[in-house]
Amino acid sequence: MRDIPGAWRRTAAGAGLIGADGSTHPTIFAEMSALAAETGAINLGQGFPDEDGPAEVLEAARAAIAAGANQYPPGRGIRDLLEAVAEHQARFYGLHPDPAREVLVTAGATEALAATLLALVDGPEDEVVVFEPYYDSYAAVAALAGARLVTVPLRWPDFQPDLDELRRAVGDRTRAILVNDPHNPTGAVFSAEVRDEIVRLAERHDAVIVTDEVYEHLVFDGPHVPIATLPGAWDRTLTISSGGKTFSTTGWKIGWVSGPADLVDAVLAVKQFLTYVNGSAFQPAIAVGLRLGDGFFRGIADTLRAKRDLLGDGLRSAGFEVSTPAGSYFTVADARALGATDAGEFCRDLPRRAGVVAIPLTAFATPGRRSEYATLVRFAACKRADVLAEAAARLAAARDGEINPPGA
Ligand code: PMP
Ligand code: GLN
Repeated sequence: MRDIPGAWRRTAAGAGLIGADGSTHPTIFAEMSALAAETGAINLGQGFPDEDGPAEVLEAARAAIAAGANQYPPGRGIRDLLEAVAEHQARFYGLHPDPAREVLVTAGATEALAATLLALVDGPEDEVVVFEPYYDSYAAVAALAGARLVTVPLRWPDFQPDLDELRRAVGDRTRAILVNDPHNPTGAVFSAEVRDEIVRLAERHDAVIVTDEVYEHLVFDGPHVPIATLPGAWDRTLTISSGGKTFSTTGWKIGWVSGPADLVDAVLAVKQFLTYVNGSAFQPAIAVGLRLGDGFFRGIADTLRAKRDLLGDGLRSAGFEVSTPAGSYFTVADARALGATDAGEFCRDLPRRAGVVAIPLTAFATPGRRSEYATLVRFAACKRADVLAEAAARLAAARDGEINPPGA
Protein backbone atom coordinates (compact mmCIF):
# COMPACT_ATOMS: atom_id res chain seq x y z
CA MET A 1 0.00 0.00 0.00
CA ARG A 2 1.26 3.50 -0.72
CA ASP A 3 2.49 5.41 2.25
CA ILE A 4 0.61 8.65 1.70
CA PRO A 5 1.88 10.59 4.74
CA GLY A 6 5.41 9.49 3.90
CA ALA A 7 5.01 10.61 0.31
CA TRP A 8 3.74 13.95 1.50
CA ARG A 9 6.70 14.27 3.81
CA ARG A 10 9.19 13.53 1.03
CA THR A 11 7.58 16.05 -1.27
CA ALA A 12 7.45 18.79 1.35
CA ALA A 13 11.00 18.02 2.47
CA GLY A 14 12.15 18.25 -1.14
CA ALA A 15 10.62 21.70 -1.31
CA GLY A 16 12.39 22.67 1.91
CA LEU A 17 9.12 23.03 3.80
CA ILE A 18 10.00 20.53 6.51
CA GLY A 19 13.32 20.17 8.25
CA ALA A 20 15.80 17.29 8.04
CA ASP A 21 14.55 16.18 11.46
CA GLY A 22 10.98 15.96 10.13
CA SER A 23 9.88 19.14 11.91
CA THR A 24 7.33 21.48 10.37
CA HIS A 25 7.19 25.14 11.18
CA PRO A 26 4.39 27.67 11.24
CA THR A 27 5.13 30.87 9.31
CA ILE A 28 6.98 33.54 11.24
CA PHE A 29 3.73 35.57 11.27
CA ALA A 30 1.72 32.77 12.86
CA GLU A 31 4.50 32.09 15.37
CA MET A 32 4.77 35.73 16.41
CA SER A 33 1.00 36.32 16.57
CA ALA A 34 0.73 33.25 18.83
CA LEU A 35 3.48 34.69 21.02
CA ALA A 36 1.59 37.99 21.20
CA ALA A 37 -1.59 36.17 22.25
CA GLU A 38 0.26 34.10 24.83
CA THR A 39 2.12 37.00 26.44
CA GLY A 40 -0.47 39.76 25.95
CA ALA A 41 2.17 41.80 24.10
CA ILE A 42 1.29 44.50 21.56
CA ASN A 43 1.42 42.85 18.15
CA LEU A 44 3.51 44.94 15.77
CA GLY A 45 4.52 41.70 14.04
CA GLN A 46 1.97 40.30 11.60
CA GLY A 47 0.79 42.99 9.21
CA PHE A 48 -2.92 43.42 9.76
CA PRO A 49 -4.79 46.55 10.83
CA ASP A 50 -6.57 46.81 14.18
CA GLU A 51 -9.41 48.97 12.84
CA ASP A 52 -12.12 48.29 10.28
CA GLY A 53 -11.94 49.64 6.75
CA PRO A 54 -14.56 51.71 4.93
CA ALA A 55 -18.15 51.14 6.10
CA GLU A 56 -19.49 51.04 2.50
CA VAL A 57 -17.28 48.05 1.75
CA LEU A 58 -18.26 46.15 4.89
CA GLU A 59 -21.93 46.92 4.28
CA ALA A 60 -21.70 45.73 0.66
CA ALA A 61 -20.53 42.29 1.85
CA ARG A 62 -23.43 42.05 4.32
CA ALA A 63 -25.84 43.11 1.59
CA ALA A 64 -24.40 40.56 -0.85
CA ILE A 65 -24.94 37.74 1.65
CA ALA A 66 -28.49 38.93 2.28
CA ALA A 67 -29.09 39.07 -1.47
CA GLY A 68 -28.02 35.44 -1.87
CA ALA A 69 -24.47 35.74 -3.25
CA ASN A 70 -23.56 32.57 -1.40
CA GLN A 71 -22.72 30.00 -4.08
CA TYR A 72 -19.74 29.52 -6.38
CA PRO A 73 -18.97 32.65 -8.34
CA PRO A 74 -17.69 32.29 -11.94
CA GLY A 75 -14.15 30.88 -12.29
CA ARG A 76 -12.58 34.15 -13.37
CA GLY A 77 -14.48 36.19 -10.78
CA ILE A 78 -17.78 38.06 -10.86
CA ARG A 79 -18.19 40.45 -13.78
CA ASP A 80 -18.65 43.47 -11.50
CA LEU A 81 -15.27 42.93 -9.80
CA LEU A 82 -13.46 42.17 -13.07
CA GLU A 83 -14.80 45.46 -14.39
CA ALA A 84 -13.94 47.32 -11.18
CA VAL A 85 -10.33 46.06 -11.36
CA ALA A 86 -10.09 47.14 -15.02
CA GLU A 87 -11.55 50.57 -14.14
CA HIS A 88 -9.12 50.89 -11.24
CA GLN A 89 -6.12 50.12 -13.47
CA ALA A 90 -7.34 52.73 -15.97
CA ARG A 91 -8.14 55.37 -13.37
CA PHE A 92 -4.89 55.18 -11.41
CA TYR A 93 -2.39 53.99 -14.00
CA GLY A 94 -3.77 54.51 -17.52
CA LEU A 95 -3.75 50.74 -18.15
CA HIS A 96 -6.72 49.27 -20.01
CA PRO A 97 -7.01 45.53 -19.38
CA ASP A 98 -9.98 43.81 -20.98
CA PRO A 99 -12.07 42.72 -17.98
CA ALA A 100 -13.24 39.56 -19.77
CA ARG A 101 -9.81 38.24 -20.77
CA GLU A 102 -7.08 40.18 -19.03
CA VAL A 103 -8.20 40.14 -15.38
CA LEU A 104 -8.57 37.17 -13.03
CA VAL A 105 -9.84 37.17 -9.43
CA THR A 106 -7.89 34.98 -6.99
CA ALA A 107 -7.97 33.93 -3.33
CA GLY A 108 -5.80 36.82 -2.22
CA ALA A 109 -2.47 37.82 -3.71
CA THR A 110 -1.12 34.64 -2.15
CA GLU A 111 -3.03 32.38 -4.53
CA ALA A 112 -2.26 34.66 -7.46
CA LEU A 113 1.47 34.34 -6.71
CA ALA A 114 1.26 30.56 -6.26
CA ALA A 115 -0.79 29.95 -9.40
CA THR A 116 1.47 32.26 -11.40
CA LEU A 117 4.73 30.59 -10.42
CA LEU A 118 3.23 27.11 -10.82
CA ALA A 119 2.02 28.13 -14.28
CA LEU A 120 5.30 29.66 -15.42
CA VAL A 121 7.89 27.24 -14.08
CA ASP A 122 8.63 24.19 -16.24
CA GLY A 123 11.29 22.43 -14.21
CA PRO A 124 14.43 22.62 -12.10
CA GLU A 125 16.35 24.46 -14.84
CA ASP A 126 14.02 27.42 -14.46
CA GLU A 127 15.00 30.28 -12.19
CA VAL A 128 12.85 32.78 -10.35
CA VAL A 129 14.58 36.03 -9.39
CA VAL A 130 13.41 37.74 -6.19
CA PHE A 131 14.63 40.65 -4.12
CA GLU A 132 15.87 39.64 -0.68
CA PRO A 133 14.65 39.92 2.05
CA TYR A 134 11.44 38.58 0.46
CA TYR A 135 7.88 37.82 1.53
CA ASP A 136 7.96 34.28 2.87
CA SER A 137 5.58 32.68 0.37
CA TYR A 138 7.91 33.49 -2.56
CA ALA A 139 10.57 30.96 -1.61
CA ALA A 140 7.99 28.36 -0.56
CA VAL A 141 6.06 28.61 -3.82
CA ALA A 142 9.20 28.67 -5.98
CA ALA A 143 10.22 25.46 -4.18
CA LEU A 144 6.80 23.87 -4.69
CA ALA A 145 6.99 24.80 -8.38
CA GLY A 146 10.43 23.15 -8.53
CA ALA A 147 12.27 26.32 -9.58
CA ARG A 148 15.63 27.60 -8.43
CA LEU A 149 15.36 30.80 -6.40
CA VAL A 150 17.92 33.47 -7.28
CA THR A 151 18.05 36.45 -4.95
CA VAL A 152 19.16 40.06 -5.33
CA PRO A 153 20.04 41.61 -1.96
CA LEU A 154 18.51 44.83 -0.67
CA ARG A 155 20.69 46.49 1.93
CA TRP A 156 20.10 48.72 4.91
CA PRO A 157 19.19 51.54 5.08
CA ASP A 158 17.61 52.40 1.69
CA PHE A 159 17.08 48.82 0.46
CA GLN A 160 17.48 49.65 -3.25
CA PRO A 161 19.06 46.86 -5.32
CA ASP A 162 22.48 47.36 -6.84
CA LEU A 163 22.01 47.38 -10.63
CA ASP A 164 25.09 45.24 -11.30
CA GLU A 165 23.91 42.61 -8.85
CA LEU A 166 20.51 42.69 -10.51
CA ARG A 167 22.09 42.22 -13.96
CA ARG A 168 24.13 39.28 -12.69
CA ALA A 169 21.02 37.60 -11.24
CA VAL A 170 19.00 37.60 -14.47
CA GLY A 171 19.98 35.24 -17.30
CA ASP A 172 18.58 32.97 -19.95
CA ARG A 173 17.32 30.53 -17.33
CA THR A 174 15.27 33.25 -15.65
CA ARG A 175 11.62 32.40 -16.12
CA ALA A 176 10.23 35.13 -13.89
CA ILE A 177 11.42 38.24 -12.10
CA LEU A 178 9.20 38.70 -9.07
CA VAL A 179 9.02 42.32 -7.96
CA ASN A 180 7.31 43.38 -4.75
CA ASP A 181 6.94 47.16 -4.88
CA PRO A 182 6.20 48.74 -2.37
CA HIS A 183 8.28 46.12 -0.65
CA ASN A 184 7.57 43.89 2.33
CA PRO A 185 9.45 43.72 4.71
CA THR A 186 11.61 46.81 4.02
CA GLY A 187 9.04 49.44 2.96
CA ALA A 188 11.24 50.32 -0.03
CA VAL A 189 9.74 51.75 -3.21
CA PHE A 190 11.99 50.94 -6.13
CA SER A 191 13.57 53.79 -8.09
CA ALA A 192 12.68 54.50 -11.73
CA GLU A 193 16.17 53.31 -12.67
CA VAL A 194 15.57 49.93 -11.03
CA ARG A 195 12.17 49.52 -12.66
CA ASP A 196 13.60 50.38 -16.09
CA GLU A 197 16.43 47.90 -15.64
CA ILE A 198 14.00 45.13 -14.68
CA VAL A 199 12.09 45.66 -17.93
CA ARG A 200 15.31 45.78 -19.99
CA LEU A 201 16.56 42.55 -18.43
CA ALA A 202 13.23 40.77 -18.85
CA GLU A 203 13.20 41.73 -22.54
CA ARG A 204 16.81 40.70 -23.09
CA HIS A 205 16.30 37.28 -21.45
CA ASP A 206 12.68 36.74 -22.42
CA ALA A 207 11.50 36.52 -18.82
CA VAL A 208 8.06 37.26 -17.41
CA ILE A 209 7.78 40.05 -14.84
CA VAL A 210 5.49 39.22 -11.96
CA THR A 211 4.65 42.14 -9.71
CA ASP A 212 3.21 42.02 -6.21
CA GLU A 213 1.59 45.42 -5.62
CA VAL A 214 -0.56 44.71 -2.56
CA TYR A 215 0.70 47.98 -0.99
CA GLU A 216 0.01 50.03 -4.15
CA HIS A 217 -2.13 52.60 -2.30
CA LEU A 218 0.11 52.80 0.75
CA VAL A 219 2.89 54.96 -0.69
CA PHE A 220 4.09 58.07 1.12
CA ASP A 221 5.85 60.04 -1.61
CA GLY A 222 3.50 58.76 -4.37
CA PRO A 223 2.28 58.14 -6.95
CA HIS A 224 2.79 54.38 -7.26
CA VAL A 225 4.17 53.30 -10.65
CA PRO A 226 3.28 49.76 -11.78
CA ILE A 227 5.98 48.18 -13.94
CA ALA A 228 3.27 47.20 -16.45
CA THR A 229 3.00 50.91 -17.39
CA LEU A 230 6.61 51.10 -18.64
CA PRO A 231 7.25 50.94 -22.38
CA GLY A 232 7.45 47.34 -23.58
CA ALA A 233 6.43 45.91 -20.20
CA TRP A 234 2.72 45.10 -20.58
CA ASP A 235 3.18 42.12 -22.91
CA ARG A 236 5.40 40.28 -20.45
CA THR A 237 4.02 41.41 -17.08
CA LEU A 238 1.51 39.87 -14.70
CA THR A 239 0.39 42.46 -12.16
CA ILE A 240 -0.89 41.10 -8.85
CA SER A 241 -2.71 42.95 -6.09
CA SER A 242 -5.40 42.41 -3.50
CA GLY A 243 -7.98 44.21 -1.41
CA GLY A 244 -6.61 43.16 1.98
CA LYS A 245 -4.35 46.13 2.71
CA THR A 246 -6.22 48.82 0.80
CA PHE A 247 -9.55 48.14 2.50
CA SER A 248 -8.30 46.70 5.82
CA THR A 249 -9.90 43.35 4.97
CA THR A 250 -6.93 41.00 5.17
CA GLY A 251 -9.19 38.10 6.17
CA TRP A 252 -11.33 38.32 3.05
CA LYS A 253 -8.65 37.11 0.64
CA ILE A 254 -9.81 38.76 -2.53
CA GLY A 255 -6.93 39.28 -4.93
CA TRP A 256 -6.48 39.68 -8.66
CA VAL A 257 -4.05 39.36 -11.55
CA SER A 258 -4.06 41.45 -14.71
CA GLY A 259 -1.95 41.14 -17.83
CA PRO A 260 -2.02 39.86 -21.40
CA ALA A 261 -4.72 37.24 -22.01
CA ASP A 262 -2.36 34.32 -22.75
CA LEU A 263 -0.48 34.80 -19.48
CA VAL A 264 -3.68 35.30 -17.48
CA ASP A 265 -5.11 32.11 -19.05
CA ALA A 266 -2.04 30.18 -17.90
CA VAL A 267 -2.61 31.41 -14.33
CA LEU A 268 -6.31 30.49 -14.55
CA ALA A 269 -5.38 26.98 -15.72
CA VAL A 270 -3.63 26.42 -12.37
CA LYS A 271 -5.88 28.55 -10.18
CA GLN A 272 -8.98 26.53 -11.08
CA PHE A 273 -7.40 23.51 -9.35
CA LEU A 274 -6.13 25.38 -6.31
CA THR A 275 -9.22 27.07 -4.90
CA TYR A 276 -11.34 27.12 -8.09
CA VAL A 277 -13.13 30.21 -6.70
CA ASN A 278 -13.63 32.04 -3.40
CA GLY A 279 -15.40 34.86 -1.62
CA SER A 280 -18.68 35.17 -3.52
CA ALA A 281 -20.00 37.84 -1.15
CA PHE A 282 -16.68 39.61 -0.71
CA GLN A 283 -16.08 40.06 -4.44
CA PRO A 284 -18.89 42.62 -4.94
CA ALA A 285 -17.78 44.40 -1.77
CA ILE A 286 -14.23 44.81 -3.03
CA ALA A 287 -15.69 46.11 -6.31
CA VAL A 288 -17.40 48.84 -4.24
CA GLY A 289 -14.08 49.61 -2.57
CA LEU A 290 -12.15 49.92 -5.82
CA ARG A 291 -14.68 52.52 -6.98
CA LEU A 292 -14.45 54.70 -3.84
CA GLY A 293 -13.53 58.35 -4.41
CA ASP A 294 -10.01 59.75 -4.57
CA GLY A 295 -10.39 61.11 -1.02
CA PHE A 296 -10.50 57.58 0.37
CA PHE A 297 -7.28 56.52 -1.38
CA ARG A 298 -5.47 59.74 -0.39
CA GLY A 299 -6.77 59.32 3.15
CA ILE A 300 -5.34 55.83 3.72
CA ALA A 301 -1.88 56.90 2.50
CA ASP A 302 -1.97 60.06 4.65
CA THR A 303 -3.08 58.15 7.73
CA LEU A 304 -0.40 55.50 7.33
CA ARG A 305 2.29 58.13 6.66
CA ALA A 306 1.44 59.77 9.98
CA LYS A 307 1.61 56.36 11.69
CA ARG A 308 4.95 55.62 10.04
CA ASP A 309 6.27 58.88 11.48
CA LEU A 310 4.87 58.15 14.92
CA LEU A 311 6.34 54.64 14.94
CA GLY A 312 9.70 55.85 13.58
CA ASP A 313 9.99 58.57 16.23
CA GLY A 314 9.00 56.11 18.96
CA LEU A 315 11.56 53.53 17.85
CA ARG A 316 14.30 56.19 17.70
CA SER A 317 13.45 57.36 21.21
CA ALA A 318 13.69 53.75 22.36
CA GLY A 319 17.25 53.50 21.03
CA PHE A 320 16.77 51.88 17.61
CA GLU A 321 18.27 53.16 14.39
CA VAL A 322 15.37 53.47 11.97
CA SER A 323 15.09 53.34 8.18
CA THR A 324 12.40 55.49 6.61
CA PRO A 325 10.01 53.45 4.46
CA ALA A 326 8.47 55.06 1.36
CA GLY A 327 5.50 52.69 1.40
CA SER A 328 3.86 49.55 2.90
CA TYR A 329 2.78 48.75 6.45
CA PHE A 330 6.34 48.27 7.67
CA THR A 331 9.36 50.00 9.22
CA VAL A 332 12.73 48.28 9.62
CA ALA A 333 14.81 49.17 12.66
CA ASP A 334 18.35 48.21 13.64
CA ALA A 335 18.52 46.88 17.21
CA ARG A 336 22.33 46.70 17.31
CA ALA A 337 22.61 49.64 19.71
CA LEU A 338 20.27 47.73 22.04
CA GLY A 339 22.67 44.81 22.19
CA ALA A 340 21.00 42.62 19.56
CA THR A 341 23.24 40.22 17.65
CA ASP A 342 20.56 37.78 16.47
CA ALA A 343 17.27 39.33 15.34
CA GLY A 344 15.42 36.02 15.81
CA GLU A 345 16.46 35.74 19.45
CA PHE A 346 15.85 39.44 20.01
CA CYS A 347 12.26 39.15 18.68
CA ARG A 348 11.51 35.91 20.56
CA ASP A 349 12.61 37.62 23.76
CA LEU A 350 11.02 41.04 23.15
CA PRO A 351 7.41 40.19 24.14
CA ARG A 352 8.47 39.08 27.64
CA ARG A 353 11.06 41.79 28.05
CA ALA A 354 9.16 44.74 26.60
CA GLY A 355 5.59 43.60 25.88
CA VAL A 356 5.95 44.17 22.12
CA VAL A 357 6.05 41.74 19.20
CA ALA A 358 8.08 42.37 16.03
CA ILE A 359 9.44 40.20 13.20
CA PRO A 360 13.15 39.45 12.60
CA LEU A 361 14.29 40.30 9.07
CA THR A 362 16.25 37.06 9.02
CA ALA A 363 12.89 35.29 8.55
CA PHE A 364 12.73 36.81 5.06
CA ALA A 365 16.24 35.79 3.97
CA THR A 366 17.97 32.68 2.63
CA PRO A 367 20.23 30.96 5.18
CA GLY A 368 23.44 32.15 3.46
CA ARG A 369 22.40 35.80 3.69
CA ARG A 370 20.87 35.92 7.17
CA SER A 371 24.00 37.43 8.68
CA GLU A 372 23.44 40.62 6.62
CA TYR A 373 20.14 41.15 8.44
CA ALA A 374 21.23 39.82 11.85
CA THR A 375 20.26 42.90 13.86
CA LEU A 376 17.30 44.14 11.79
CA VAL A 377 13.71 43.96 12.97
CA ARG A 378 10.41 44.74 11.19
CA PHE A 379 7.66 46.65 13.00
CA ALA A 380 4.13 47.08 11.59
CA ALA A 381 2.72 50.63 11.62
CA CYS A 382 -0.82 49.61 10.62
CA LYS A 383 -2.15 49.89 14.19
CA ARG A 384 -4.08 52.59 16.07
CA ALA A 385 -1.98 55.64 16.99
CA ASP A 386 -2.50 55.00 20.74
CA VAL A 387 -1.29 51.42 20.29
CA LEU A 388 1.85 52.62 18.49
CA ALA A 389 2.50 55.20 21.21
CA GLU A 390 2.08 52.57 23.94
CA ALA A 391 4.42 50.19 22.12
CA ALA A 392 7.04 52.92 21.83
CA ALA A 393 6.70 53.76 25.53
CA ARG A 394 7.11 50.09 26.46
CA LEU A 395 10.21 49.73 24.29
CA ALA A 396 11.75 52.86 25.81
CA ALA A 397 10.95 51.65 29.34
CA ALA A 398 12.48 48.23 28.61
CA ARG A 399 15.63 49.87 27.33
CA ASP A 400 15.93 52.11 30.35
CA GLY A 401 15.05 49.41 32.83
CA GLU A 402 16.17 46.06 31.58
CA ILE A 403 18.14 46.07 28.39
CA ASN A 404 21.81 46.45 29.08
CA PRO A 405 23.75 47.18 25.91
CA PRO A 406 27.11 45.40 25.82
CA GLY A 407 29.76 47.40 27.69
CA ALA A 408 27.15 49.41 29.60
N1 PMP B 1 2.38 39.89 -0.82
C1 PMP B 1 2.87 40.66 0.15
C2 PMP B 1 4.09 41.47 -0.11
C3 PMP B 1 2.24 40.71 1.39
O1 PMP B 1 2.74 41.48 2.36
C4 PMP B 1 1.11 39.93 1.62
C5 PMP B 1 0.47 39.92 2.97
N2 PMP B 1 -0.70 40.47 2.97
C6 PMP B 1 0.61 39.16 0.57
C7 PMP B 1 1.28 39.15 -0.63
C8 PMP B 1 -0.60 38.33 0.71
O2 PMP B 1 -1.74 39.01 0.31
P1 PMP B 1 -3.19 38.36 0.47
O3 PMP B 1 -3.56 38.46 1.88
O4 PMP B 1 -4.03 39.16 -0.45
O5 PMP B 1 -3.08 36.93 0.02
N1 GLN C 1 1.46 39.97 4.90
C1 GLN C 1 1.47 39.89 6.32
C2 GLN C 1 2.83 40.35 6.87
O1 GLN C 1 3.79 40.45 6.15
C3 GLN C 1 1.28 38.51 6.88
C4 GLN C 1 0.43 37.56 6.16
C5 GLN C 1 0.58 36.18 6.75
O2 GLN C 1 0.42 35.99 7.96
N2 GLN C 1 0.94 35.25 5.94
O3 GLN C 1 2.89 40.58 8.02
